Amino acid sequence: MDGRCPSVVSVQTTSPSVTDVLHAAQLIAPRLPETPLWSYPVLDRRTGAETYLKHENAQPTGAFKVRGGINLMARLPEEQREAGVLTYSTGNHAQSIAYAARAFGVPCTIVMPENPNPSKVAALEALGAAIEVKGATMVEAGEYAATLAAVQGNRLISPADEPDLIAGVGTLYLEILNRCPDLDAIFVPIGSGTGAAGACLVAKAVAPRCRIIGVQSSLAPTAHDSWRAGELVRRPVGTVADGLATGSAFATPQRIMRDLDDFILVSDEEIRQAQRILLYEAHTLTELAGAAALAGLLARREEFAGRKVALACTGANASPAELHRLLSSPPAGT
Ligand SMILES: *Cc1c(COP(=O)(O)O)cnc(C)c1O
Repeated sequence: MDGRCPSVVSVQTTSPSVTDVLHAAQLIAPRLPETPLWSYPVLDRRTGAETYLKHENAQPTGAFKVRGGINLMARLPEEQREAGVLTYSTGNHAQSIAYAARAFGVPCTIVMPENPNPSKVAALEALGAAIEVKGATMVEAGEYAATLAAVQGNRLISPADEPDLIAGVGTLYLEILNRCPDLDAIFVPIGSGTGAAGACLVAKAVAPRCRIIGVQSSLAPTAHDSWRAGELVRRPVGTVADGLATGSAFATPQRIMRDLDDFILVSDEEIRQAQRILLYEAHTLTELAGAAALAGLLARREEFAGRKVALACTGANASPAELHRLLSSPPAGT
């Protein structure tokens, strides 16, 4: 340790197993129905592959992370439920924890960095979370969160070094492979890596020949560069895809992601083009991060021609500015 606050220095935890994912599926089933896995002929023409979209945009919070929140909260010891939970996030992780906390009657505090998106604040308030705005960046917000959790006696929830979050989001890949056991590949967008770690756990156990391919923005390559280097590195964040905008790496998902078959970077313009294709041709609204898997497949079009491929369409929480831009620019090409 280098003396920094443990909440922002990644901590070692135990890795979840595929059995933990099966347990998570049991806990999640009564609260979150299976999301659709659909194909679209126009999309197949675009990609040249037999393509299946996993519609996590259809989750009640608009993103896949709620699977992890529900699993963590369902397994939380009684004394921690009573003490309340606290986490820090600008977006979908916060909504996942606030949604799950409300479902289980657990008091919840969210620390957000300064100048938060007002529509995200409104969504969190509607879920009954207490919101504290503090810190210029996520790192500072994380430091404040650790201090506040200690003062309030809350259970501090890391955005990614949490085995229960990883096991929970792993259920998404269990659903995909249960419907489609003979997939050649699944493309997974990566920020901190919880989703991709869940995908690795599941695929390795139930469909070892299905390749798991991670996709990140070249303007926020922290997880990618950490994976290539084999150690946790920090990188500046310049991407507009906020679900992928992670500046520091997390040990637990990185350890499990050693099993990724490949990890590729795409440009923000490639992600924007994929977002437009999904809206105009598959009638599916995604936020930018939710379109990154398609951007990855389009970047590897030749390699996957004629193959059977699923794309994790991870979320739909586009900002008003993003929506405006989307509607004023149809996708290029055919
Ligand atoms: C968080 C998020 C991701 C990245 O998931 P990680 O588990 O952090 O790698 C991708 N898409 C959306 C919509 C997200 O909210």
